[in-house]
Amino acid sequence: MKQIVILSGKGGTGKTSITAAFAHLGTTYGIFPPAVFVDADVDAANLSLVLQPGILDPKEFWGGSLAVINPDQCVNCGACSPVCRYDAIFPDPQKAQVQWIDPIACDGCAACVYACPEGAISMVPQQEGNWFQSNTSFGSLFHAELFPGKENSGKLVTLIKQQARLFAEDTQSQYVVIDGPPGIGCPVISACAGTDLGLIVTEPSLAGLHDLKRVLETLRHFRVPVVICINKADIYPEGTRAIREFAISESIDLIGEIPYDENLPRAMIEGKPITLLFPDSPAARAVRDVWQKTIQLLQPQEDHYGSSSS
Ligand code: SF4
Ligand code: SF4
Repeated sequence: MKQIVILSGKGGTGKTSITAAFAHLGTTYGIFPPAVFVDADVDAANLSLVLQPGILDPKEFWGGSLAVINPDQCVNCGACSPVCRYDAIFPDPQKAQVQWIDPIACDGCAACVYACPEGAISMVPQQEGNWFQSNTSFGSLFHAELFPGKENSGKLVTLIKQQARLFAEDTQSQYVVIDGPPGIGCPVISACAGTDLGLIVTEPSLAGLHDLKRVLETLRHFRVPVVICINKADIYPEGTRAIREFAISESIDLIGEIPYDENLPRAMIEGKPITLLFPDSPAARAVRDVWQKTIQLLQPQEDHYGSSSS
C-alpha cells in the first residue's frame, strides 16, 4: 500500500480539484479496491464538498487538556497566578475570593497544578473536534473538523491518516491519497510523514515558486520523493519557465502542466470532479496525464539486478 500526499504550500492552486479528479479517475480506470482518500485540511476541509460523502462513522476528537480550578477547594492563596506564563489566571468574575482560569488563554502546560498547595486545580480533557469515515462514489474518505480556535491540528491529521492507512490495509487498497493542508505548519508535517510520494501542485508566479520551495523542504526532510505539476501553466509563461528551470536544477520530475481552464472552478462550484463533469476539457485531459504518471511512479521498479522493489 502506497501513500501519496498532494501539497501546494498555499491554498488556491487547484490542489483539491486535482485530488477530486484523482478520486474519480481511480474508479474510472478500475483501480480495485478503490483508493482511500484523506482530507488533511482539518481547519477548512473542502474535499468533501466535491466528493459529497455520506458520513458512516462520526467520532469525537479529544485533544489536549485545560486547567480548571475547583472553587470549593481554592483558598485564594495566589500561588498559581505567577507561574502561568500565559496570564490565564484571574480572580473569578462570578465568585469573590477564588481564582479562575480563562479557557481561551490556558495553554494546558499544567504548571499551575503543581503550584497549587490545596490540590484545587486539575487538568480536564477537551473535545477539540470530530473526525469521520465516509463513503463516496469514488471510495472511502477520512476527514475531520477542528473546532474554531482549537489547536492540535497536526495531531488530528495524524489520527485520520492512521485510520485511513489501517482501513486501506484491511480492505487491501493499494493507495491512500492525502489532500494536504496549505502552508508548512504542523498539519503539513503530519500529512507528509511516512508518505511514499509528494505531488506539489504549484502555479506560475513568484509566490508560487516561493511556496513550492518551502513545501519541498518539508518533504525532503522526511525523505519523500517529490514530483511537481504546474496548474494554470499558460497564464504566465515566464513563471512557468522559472519553475521548469528550478525543477531541472533540483532533479525533480515535472509530471504535468495543466492549462488555465475555467471548467476547473466550474466543476468545483458544481461539486463534481472536472474529469467527470467536463472529461474532454483541456484541464481534464492534462489531469488524466498527471494521474497516470503518478500511478506509474508508484509501481514497483525494476532494479539493476532485475528484481523489483516496492
Ligand atoms: S495549565 Fe498552564 S497555561 Fe493553563 S492556567 Fe495553568 S499554568 Fe496557565
Ligand atoms: S494556588 Fe490553588 S488555592 Fe491558591 S489561588 Fe490558586 S487555585 Fe486557589
